[in-house]
Amino acid sequence: MRVHVVGCCGSFAGPTGAASSYLIEQTDAAGRTWRVLMDLGSGAFGPLQGLIDPTELDAVVISHLHPDHFLDMTGLEVFWAYHERDDLPQLPVYGPAELPQRLAAVLCREGAVPDGVDTVPFAYDALTEGTIFTVGPLSFEARAVVHPVEAYAFRITSGEEVLVYSGDTDACEALDELAVGADLFLCEAGYIEGRDDHFAGVHLTGRRAGQSAARAGAKQLALTHIPAWTDPAIPLAEARAVHEGPIRLVAPMDILEVSQHRD
Ligand SMILES: [Zn+2]
Ligand SMILES: [Zn+2]
Repeated sequence: MRVHVVGCCGSFAGPTGAASSYLIEQTDAAGRTWRVLMDLGSGAFGPLQGLIDPTELDAVVISHLHPDHFLDMTGLEVFWAYHERDDLPQLPVYGPAELPQRLAAVLCREGAVPDGVDTVPFAYDALTEGTIFTVGPLSFEARAVVHPVEAYAFRITSGEEVLVYSGDTDACEALDELAVGADLFLCEAGYIEGRDDHFAGVHLTGRRAGQSAARAGAKQLALTHIPAWTDPAIPLAEARAVHEGPIRLVAPMDILEVSQHRD
């Protein structure tokens, strides 16, 4: 399994990259490569087109309805609804139940059907606590996490390989449980100690991300969702102070290999 970092800026697009979006790829036994997009935040549809032809997507998963995680679904919808190819299937989209209405509101219309066409381009599936679904060789488990809005983290498995994505969350049992033994724990660290840690129930600091990785025994921790105004060295140092395993920062266009780590 492989993760392309399409965008990873926390809370809003930054001067050097888009907000959250990750392209997961896995090739099945027959040699077909499956592609699932995890979040499509502000500014991320641009760089996505530099990576793949978006018609190659097999599914999209949206962790929650903050703009830095879903707003560029507006661009993907236009792309899919008005594409010159008329044989595109409905694209499976997993996300909070309100996603179709939110997209419609941003696009200034009622209902899920784009203006001028007669079909809904996306096949929506609402996430709830514990939802399990598969896309080709990839299995997803969603768990509700702690954020000011309905939000999910995901454990994605393929064979023996395990990727865990935190979405946006503060520390919680569901996240620790999801991350147990993860080969790669892609975890947000939107806050830093001292400046932001008085906010509860919103984001992890680098320290809290490191503590969660340590409790879960994650084999590799990748810190993400660091806002443009934060020096990434700070959450990295915080995480390193509380977790002994390998820890890295992610940057736009990074490719993260999720291979099974053996002790
Ligand atoms: Zn966010
Ligand atoms: Zn959020």
